[in-house]
Amino acid sequence: MSGSNGFGKTKSGRTGDKHMDYEGQICRPPMERGSFMLPVSVGCSYNRCHFCSLFKHLKYRELPVEEIESELKRVKNLGGMPPSVFLGDGNAFGLPVSRLSEILSLIHDYFPDCAAVDMDGTVTSILKKTDGELSMLYRAGVRHICVGIECGLDDVLKRVEKEHDMAEAAEAVKRLSRAGILYDAHIMTGIAGHGRGQENADALAAFFNCTKPSRIINFSLFIDKSTAMYDDIAAGSFVPADELENIKEERRLLAQLETEGLQYDGFHDFVTFRVRGSLPKDRNRMLETLDTAISERRGEGAFAYA
Ligand code: SF4
Repeated sequence: MSGSNGFGKTKSGRTGDKHMDYEGQICRPPMERGSFMLPVSVGCSYNRCHFCSLFKHLKYRELPVEEIESELKRVKNLGGMPPSVFLGDGNAFGLPVSRLSEILSLIHDYFPDCAAVDMDGTVTSILKKTDGELSMLYRAGVRHICVGIECGLDDVLKRVEKEHDMAEAAEAVKRLSRAGILYDAHIMTGIAGHGRGQENADALAAFFNCTKPSRIINFSLFIDKSTAMYDDIAAGSFVPADELENIKEERRLLAQLETEGLQYDGFHDFVTFRVRGSLPKDRNRMLETLDTAISERRGEGAFAYA
């Protein structure tokens, strides 16, 4: 996954003696708000992306199966019947196949009507699995993997240490699709920096029109002080885009997306509106919202990280 800003996240903490004790910040796509959030790991097994502050303070570990089962039991005893489950945290698809299978089997033991198990996964975690394993995970109930695509430009992915390039991302989502698993894309307008938003929008549109994600979630870049990217700004090696550039980047991307039925949800930390809908049906309404925002913001200064 994931992203560095506040939307879709739940601050965690002890919620009662019998509840699972969540650690860190739980992050999931807004389209998963109706899913039962079931942590299966703590932190992120990768944890090196320069823009991400979600799990910096946590040492990655898998949660014991007994703890996961006890949470399933608790929710079932409360009368829960989730139609879908979202596994946390940052790279749940990076769990070994044997562990994922065990968890999927438990979920279906407790919730036989659960129609989908979804989670975040890095490109690398997908590529490490064989085609046979991906098909087996589909048969065991996995339906959506939210992949941290983030950007369409290889040099930017390298600069932010994203652990994949665009060719690897294309290969990973093609293999998911062959197994029947839908892919959702996490992106961040602004990640390419000042002056490169339009170039990134074109590259992402070309990538998405070929690879056909089911959903796109845009948590426009917000740089926390604890991240390496914040240090890059201080050192002058990265110049962030301002919100006007980010909104224009989003507009250019939305104008070009072609996949029928594609769900889009976009947030910006420094603007109050949210652009969401189904493409191409809602495209004009979404573009109008962005056009209004662009005309209102012309002449505003850049947001300064200081
Ligand atoms: S893969 Fe990168 S963006 Fe996703 S949770 Fe891990 S460090 Fe953060």
